[in-house]
Amino acid sequence: MALLEVSNLKTYFTTLEGTVQAVDDVSFELDKGTAMGLAGESGCGKTTAALSIMRLLPSNGYIKQGSITFDGKNIVKMNPVKLRRTRWKEMSIVFQGAMNALNPVKRVGDQIVEPILLHEKVTEATARKRTKELFELVGISPDRIDDYPHEFSGGMRQRVMIAMALACWPKLIIADEPTTALDVMIQAQIIRLLKNLQKELDLALIMISHDLSVLAETCEFLCIMYAGKIVEKGSSVHIFKHPRHPYTRGLVAAFPNIKGEKFMPEPIPGNPPNLIHPPIGCRFSDRCKYKQQICDQKEPPLFEFEPGHYVACHLVQKGVI
Ligand code: SF4
Repeated sequence: MALLEVSNLKTYFTTLEGTVQAVDDVSFELDKGTAMGLAGESGCGKTTAALSIMRLLPSNGYIKQGSITFDGKNIVKMNPVKLRRTRWKEMSIVFQGAMNALNPVKRVGDQIVEPILLHEKVTEATARKRTKELFELVGISPDRIDDYPHEFSGGMRQRVMIAMALACWPKLIIADEPTTALDVMIQAQIIRLLKNLQKELDLALIMISHDLSVLAETCEFLCIMYAGKIVEKGSSVHIFKHPRHPYTRGLVAAFPNIKGEKFMPEPIPGNPPNLIHPPIGCRFSDRCKYKQQICDQKEPPLFEFEPGHYVACHLVQKGVI
């Protein structure tokens, strides 16, 4: 059985304009010790899917339908007490923008000691010892546990966030755009660190990013999300080399490849649809150069294009593109 099973998940937000169908019928599985990437533009639903798994949705968000099973436990129906125990201890999240996630008036070490003491029956001395070990694990000198967040650089703060996510040795870590706002060199270090920790600690990892090349490097599997739906999923190497869905092709073409052939990155024209009134047919149709009549009439199902590789596109299904 997979460590995490998300089935037909629908997560909606109530707004003054109407109900936003932010995640709509999303399913995927993740095994122990495996890394999966969730990719797509801003607003495609990847962070909402992650917050649904953690049950950390804002007050206007709710899980309308579907199931989330983690280590055999039903997360959707879990009561708040059990949920608090499961977060940190069994699954945790690294948010983007470490300065916002860390409390600026508290020493960083104390912010890691706190969840350890909350979730485990250990003394403060043991929790501090573990915090020092975690600092070493993420490449920060243990002598710095009594420093404040502003005394660290952006990359170091993100390392602190990773140490915090590991505080209770969870089985699953979700990293939501963990390298946003960091320069390219530091981004590469953080990505490498996450990948090494994932292998070393046999963690399941969900990495969220709009940058496909980062995900192809880090994750075995990829789910490409567009307007709340998964439009393509499968092995990351395969998808990156042979993207099938027109949106995935657009994402791949939108990033320069410094190792491969030279080409000019091409942005995807247009904007995603309004998810208060999503289109009946394919949600990508307004931006798709291959669009045919059927695309606006019927929603394309996610079909198995080849073993383990799924695509939601009428024309791929018909073998036209
Ligand atoms: Fe384009 Fe049609 Fe495929 Fe949607 S279903 S991606 S509009 S070709």
